[in-house]
Amino acid sequence: MTVETEDLNHSSDDVVAVVSRLIRFDTTNTGEPETTQGEADCAQWVAAQLAEVGYQPEYLESGAPGRGNVFARLKGADSSRGALLIHGHLDVVPAEPADWSVHPFSGAVENGYVWGRGAVDMKDMVGMMIVVARQLKRAGIVPRRDLVFAFVADEEHGGRYGAHWLVDNRPDLFDGVTEAIGEVGGFSLTVPRPDGGERRLYLIETAEKGLSWMRLTARGVAGHGSMAHNQNAVTAVSEAVARLGRHRFPLVRVDTVVQFLAALSDETGLTFDHDSADLEGMIEKLGPMARMLTAVLHDTANPTMLKAGYKANVIPATAEAVIDCRILPGRKAAFEAEVDQLIGPDVSREWIRDLDPYETTFDGDLVDAMNAALLALDPGARTVPYMLSGGTDAKAFARLGIRCFGFAPLRLPPDLDFSSLFHGVDERVPVDALRFGTDVLAHFLTHC
Ligand SMILES: [Zn+2]
Repeated sequence: MTVETEDLNHSSDDVVAVVSRLIRFDTTNTGEPETTQGEADCAQWVAAQLAEVGYQPEYLESGAPGRGNVFARLKGADSSRGALLIHGHLDVVPAEPADWSVHPFSGAVENGYVWGRGAVDMKDMVGMMIVVARQLKRAGIVPRRDLVFAFVADEEHGGRYGAHWLVDNRPDLFDGVTEAIGEVGGFSLTVPRPDGGERRLYLIETAEKGLSWMRLTARGVAGHGSMAHNQNAVTAVSEAVARLGRHRFPLVRVDTVVQFLAALSDETGLTFDHDSADLEGMIEKLGPMARMLTAVLHDTANPTMLKAGYKANVIPATAEAVIDCRILPGRKAAFEAEVDQLIGPDVSREWIRDLDPYETTFDGDLVDAMNAALLALDPGARTVPYMLSGGTDAKAFARLGIRCFGFAPLRLPPDLDFSSLFHGVDERVPVDALRFGTDVLAHFLTHC
């Protein structure tokens, strides 16, 4: 494709212009390779921004035409130190323009925000990566270790045509990589202090719940809808779905969550006792972020799809449901046993997507470098580890033994309902947060 010449001027060094431009590529991931377009154009544009300052980026497609990815490596001073992967996905989830205040692919810069689908998930970080990669190259900075910048396809549908394909088919792209940063972490959460003040915490993602999609199938006896019938597959699957959907899995606090709650307690003076029945109530005092934070206290099993029947007066022989299960580290066997109890012997289950949870420790040189970079630009803040309830491409990279962190730094206004912007209407990112994040990322990548 041809790159617009207006895109190859100095505006590619301004993170606001870059993020706005990235949003104007409609990289909607529909979940179907045939109808997912735009990643290739976007990836080619990213490659051009990197090539312009002297990188030799590799553009490649992952498993289907148009699933564009870009990799570029900046040589570090000491190749015996493991390389650092900095990854961001180019695809976004669909957006319905009628619901939005601005067109979701306009990249409008208004009222101190860049607006559009992908503004926080995650063209914000992609833009910061491009700008910092260009700064480092142009200034002739040799980082301490190799830096591998990766811009990938298909994260929003599980990475089968993106990160997982790259790990399976092109492991050479990750040669020497020992650690990685990407979404979802590095953003600020402002909490109240007992003295009436506030404290800005930066949440570094060190853990993710597992992502497991389960199909339930009930097999009964087909028959006429007018007759007495006690082996109805629709009834059987419905009962299993209702029991699962209403079930509360036990409160489990994994290491990362224990550390997170300890830090919260430390800062706010609130107590988050292990046995407290009102733990979620305490967390809710922290505001809108609570929905994300309480989801890591339990496994969840949310029914999302149902399929059965073909005629009003025919009882079908089978009926199916899909359940979106998110499972904590170390809980898989106990979770399955609990599910089997709930669905009963007449309903069978199978995994149709099954990605392991991930957890690493909050220590070491890389964590120190994140901490130093954030404190250099926001003295008085504090970094804390946290667990993401969703999944990211880190699950793919972790399969190569890479230690993964969510670190896409943003200093957010205290009252912004950040977690609701992910996949939400009027997704937007503060201009100030982007500029701050770019400075933090530049500091981090120079010193890590
Ligand atoms: Zn994302």
